[in-house]
This record gives sequence, structure tokens and C-alpha cells, in this order.
Amino acid sequence: MRDFNACFEICLNQKNTGKHIFFDNQGNILLDGETNSFISNDMTIKSDAYKVYESKTSAIFISQQNEIKSNFICLKQREILRYLRDEYDLMIYSRAAQLFSWVKSYNYCSTDGTRLSSINEDLSKSCSSCQKSIFPKISPCILVAVLSDEKILLAKHLNTPFFTVLAGFVEYGETLEECVVREVYEEVGIKVHDLKYHGSQTWPFPNQLMVGFIAKAYDTEIKPDHSEIESAEWFDKSNLPTIPPRLSLSRSLIEKALNFLP
Ligand SMILES: [Zn+2]
Repeated sequence: MRDFNACFEICLNQKNTGKHIFFDNQGNILLDGETNSFISNDMTIKSDAYKVYESKTSAIFISQQNEIKSNFICLKQREILRYLRDEYDLMIYSRAAQLFSWVKSYNYCSTDGTRLSSINEDLSKSCSSCQKSIFPKISPCILVAVLSDEKILLAKHLNTPFFTVLAGFVEYGETLEECVVREVYEEVGIKVHDLKYHGSQTWPFPNQLMVGFIAKAYDTEIKPDHSEIESAEWFDKSNLPTIPPRLSLSRSLIEKALNFLP
């Protein structure tokens, strides 16, 4: 899947040749129970589809399947996660699911209630009444691994089975760096500095862009905000609790941050 590039093409009522990703009328993705994959092999089908990736030799289309074949399993939201083999599967699922949702929903202008146009090639929908173009929304969210000289700070959030890095949504008028400093102080009462960018990841539940940082703590006294966090502790490299599963940015961020510890 590494040779596919993102694209967007409206391919309604025509024969579409390539790989296909199907959704039901509720927006749930359909998994092929025989291959355990949500991406079909190359084939030609007549469909109302949207091309969302292309390579030199193939393409990936998304479409709605009204008659669901018996070998398909309908997966709700995060149920797909255990069928994703690697970060490319996550990326493709993320683009496919969010674009399908955008094509099918958000059909009325929030200013005047006019029915919007169908999706345009630049992903916008237009309002014929107020002339606005409306684009899909993405919510930026920071993740931060906080380090002392010898330890990493990990928190257990309410209703999660593992310890992980701190996280929070970017607010209006705020830079990513300001968001990191604010979130850490709000969640554990610690001031941080010396921020290092780690990487980013798309996360389609529902439409987040996670941006990971590593930061140094000025002090080590934790005052957890119990409305968001069950507990927060400093951990040695050799004594880690259960951390998030593979494929998550929080996992790779923790692994990278541990390299900075003695
Ligand atoms: Zn309008």
C-alpha cells in the first residue's frame, strides 16, 4: 500500500477498476470475512464511487454497498483497529472513513439551513444561498511525553486500561506549543519547557490529527486533575506499566522518549 498517493475524484455511475472499500448506509465499514481485509483485491465494478488513492497500476475507491454480501462483516468505529496491519492501513482507513462520512453527512449550511451542494473535487461543499464553501473539519490534538532527568510521566485516564502520555485538543488562538504547556499544567500541575516535535498521525475517531511532542519538566511534583486523570506517576525505563498498543502515536512517542532517559 506504500505506493498509493492520496487523490480525490468523483466517479459516479461508471465502471471503476481498482481496489474498493465499502461502507453500509450507516457509514460502517465492511470487512471481507474471507480475507479479513477492508480493502478488496483489484476488480472492476459499476458503482457510485469516489477515488481516494491512486498508484501507477491501481486505485482505491470508496462507495456505499446497499446489498451486503454474506461474507461481509459490518464493523462499527474502533472495531476496525484490530484488522489494521500497519500504519498504512490506518492511514487508508482514516482517509476513506472520514471522506465517506463527509460525502454522506453535513448536508445543510449551518448559517441559513440551505441544502449544500454535493461534494466538489476540492472536497468542499457549497451553499447557493450565502455562497460559502464549507470544508471538512479536522481537530488538532497534542500528545506529550513529559520527562524528568531520569523518568517519564505517564497517566491513566478514566476508562482506559493502560498508562499513556498526556493529551488534549488545541484551542482557538493557541499554537501547538502553547497547547502542550497548558495541557500539562492543567492535567498534572507541572510546567514544561524544551519541547521537541516527534511526529503526527491521523486518528479517525472521529477526525483528529494527533501531534506528538517530548517536553522536559521544570519540577516533579504531580497534582493530577482527577476530572480527567485517574492517576499520574513517574516511571523508570525499567519499570513501565502497561502502555498503549502498537499503531498508536502515543506508543511510538513513549518508545522514542525513553531513548532520552539514562
Ligand atoms: Zn449558507
